[in-house]
Amino acid sequence: MAEDRQFNAPAAERGDRRGGAATAATQTRSRLRRRRVCAFCADKIENIDYKDINTLRRFISEQGQIESRRRTGTCARHQRRLTLAVKRARFLALLPYTAEHVRRYSS
Ligand SMILES: [Zn+2]
Repeated sequence: MAEDRQFNAPAAERGDRRGGAATAATQTRSRLRRRRVCAFCADKIENIDYKDINTLRRFISEQGQIESRRRTGTCARHQRRLTLAVKRARFLALLPYTAEHVRRYSS
């Protein structure tokens, strides 16, 4: 029945809907879909510096966990390097292993 109704719709209206469909489709799933490019690839960073904690901090969660590739959009190559950099930074006490440290030493 629904198909019947669509078929019987005026030609001008149908054409209108088809034209607007392309722009509407690109705007869906906006929350995680924006900029699928890896942040390090975009900045042309080859090696991630473990001392650059301001950058590294963007890739760890509130609890101090390393954010997943799915959430940040980091490519496999840079995610491996990022993980290594975060672990080095943690060992040098530049970054927390867990939120417990944050709570204890801040304030
Ligand atoms: Zn990358």
